[in-house]
Formats: sequence, structure tokens, C-alpha cells
Amino acid sequence: MYDLIIIGGGPAGAAGAIYAARKRLKTLLITGEFAGQSVVSEDIQNWVGTIHISGKELAENMKAHILAYSEGIVEIKEGEMVTAIKKLVKGFSVTTSAKKTYKAKTILIATGSARRKLDIPGADKYEHKGITYCASCDGPMFEGQDVIVVGGGNAGFETASQLLAYAKSVTLVNNTPDYFADPVTVKKVLANPKMKGITNVTPIKVEGDKFATSLTYKDNKTGKLVTLPTGGIFVEIGLAPATGFAKGVVKMLQGGQIKVDPRSGAASEKGIWSAGDCTDLPYHQNNIAVGDAIRALEHIYVFLKAK
Ligand SMILES: Cc1cc2nc3c(=O)[nH]c(=O)nc-3n(C[C@H](O)[C@H](O)[C@H](O)COP(=O)(O)OP(=O)(O)OC[C@H]3O[C@@H](n4cnc5c(N)ncnc54)[C@H](O)[C@@H]3O)c2cc1C
Repeated sequence: MYDLIIIGGGPAGAAGAIYAARKRLKTLLITGEFAGQSVVSEDIQNWVGTIHISGKELAENMKAHILAYSEGIVEIKEGEMVTAIKKLVKGFSVTTSAKKTYKAKTILIATGSARRKLDIPGADKYEHKGITYCASCDGPMFEGQDVIVVGGGNAGFETASQLLAYAKSVTLVNNTPDYFADPVTVKKVLANPKMKGITNVTPIKVEGDKFATSLTYKDNKTGKLVTLPTGGIFVEIGLAPATGFAKGVVKMLQGGQIKVDPRSGAASEKGIWSAGDCTDLPYHQNNIAVGDAIRALEHIYVFLKAK
């Protein structure tokens, strides 16, 4: 039986693993992959202590940091997804997509979030056929085209900024009168002559033939329908916590965010902690996810030593 199973290899899971190694807790880290959500960012400028770094390099550094100190104490299962957690008389069992079951005295859930899908007619049909959820993966395929970004938060503006490097034009549609992104980013991106922002509209349907060719939206004020021809639609409408495997084991908000005690990161079930974007705590950032996990690790250590 492990002292601790950490689920997730983003910033929160990585920080948890580094601290678990320092505290000599026999730990298993299970993660689909070693990469936080910001792995797609070309230039992260707020990772404290580093003036700027790409998301890919940050993820590689985190993995290297774990490996440098993990020998004999933190075991890693990469490429396995946790599918269920079960409470046992003593501790917990964790089952994965590889049909393996592992046992531990405590669990840290650090599974972050996954992209929220566009839920309108045509969105399913044209996914990967003109609709995409990853600008840095698919953006270059849309070189020279008129493209649309759905979503006016930081991720939407970051996507627009990346696309401006090769698209003919980028139109960003936002469902509220104001953008959620940082004002400094909004100003910078909208200043590009190839960029257009449309606010207070609701996407209605995606149409096309073999590939998506248009997005129709409704003006929230006038009710007027407008069809925008496009070569590609990039969706950035938020994230949903990746916590389905823990339903019924710990308390969650309706949206799937795990309810935690903000002082400790403890979930509703004794012996389970959670950190980072999958919790109900506000503000989702790399530095915050790391701090949350470290705080949780301090409590996990005290809990295990008191046993
Ligand atoms: C496009 C974009 C740009 C961003 N830019 C910045 C930025 O510049 N600065 C900043 O501070 N923040 C940025 N953020 C936010 C930041 O990336 C997140 O706050 C941070 O990644 C949260 O870390 P986390 O460890 O909680 O979760 P995540 O980063 O989501 O990591 C979750 C991990 O869990 C794994 N996982 C998920 N489900 C399972 C499962 N069932 N079993 C096993 N493993 C699982 C995943 O593979 C992943 O490794 C950005 C986010 C996005 C989307």
C-alpha cells in the first residue's frame, strides 16, 4: 500500500510529487500525460522566477524536476487514466484505464480541467473538420484563411493572437458585452488590423459540406441572426473539471469542481485532498495550482505521521 497516490501530472500533481519525495512518502503518481493545460502556450510570462518560458518547456522542466528526486520513493505511471476511486476499510483503491488497481492511505486529486465543447447543431459533426479546440496543434492548417475564435477569455485571446500569425483574418465572438480576458491582452490583440471582435452574441449553428464553412450567431440585443463564412472555428469557451471518476466519493459543485477546505485542500472524504483547477477554489493559474498542492502535501504529511 502506498502512503499517497497523486492523480494528475500538471503543475499541481508535479508540485505534489516533488514535495512527497522530499518528505519520503511512498507515492504513486498516475497521469494521462505530463503536461498542464498551459502546455499549448508559446510564451508564459507569469511563472514566478522565470521571465518567460513556453508551456512545453515548463511541462518538461516539471517532469525533470520530479525525476531528479523521485528514485525509490515516487513511482510514476504515465499514460494511465484513473477511472474510479473506492473507499476501503483502510485507505482507498484507485482503478485505471489499464485495468490496474492500486491502493493508498491517502489521495491527492490534481486532475485539472478539460475543454468545454461547443454545444450547438453542427458542432459535433464538424469537430476536427473545421472546428478545433487547439490553436497551437491545428492553427497552421488554416494559413491564409478567415477564421473564427469562439470565447473572449484569456484562452480565446491567446488563441486569436497565435492565429494572427498565419490566418488572413481572425474574428473573435464573445457571448457577453465585455470580454473576460485581461484588458492589456484585449487591447494588444484587437489592435491588430487583421483582428475583429464581436461581443454580446450567441453561437447558434455550424454549417458546411465536407468541412465547416460558416458559423451563425444571434445578436443578444436585437435577436438578428448573422452567418459568418469561415475556414475554421477555434473554440475556447472554458473548461470542465476532470473529476468524473471521483463522483459519489467526494462532494462536488454541480459543475464537477471538488469542494475543498481552503485552509488545507482536504476534500469531504477523510484521507482525500485536491489541488489546482479541479477544485472549487477561485483563480486558476499555474502558480496557484502549485501552491495549493504544496499546502495539501503539508497536511497529508501531518495526517500520515499522526496515524
Ligand atoms: C491556453 C491556456 C493558457 C494558459 N496560460 C497560463 C499562463 O500563462 N499562466 C498561468 O499561470 N496559467 C495559465 N493557464 C492556466 C493553467 O494552465 C492552469 O491553471 C494549470 O494548468 C492548472 O494546473 P493543474 O495541475 O490543476 O491541472 P492541469 O494543468 O489541467 O493538469 C491536469 C493533469 O491531470 C491529468 N489527468 C486528467 N484527468 C486524469 C485522470 N482521470 N487520470 C490521470 N490523469 C489525469 C492530465 O493529463 C494533466 O496532466 C492557461 C490555461 C490555458 C488553457
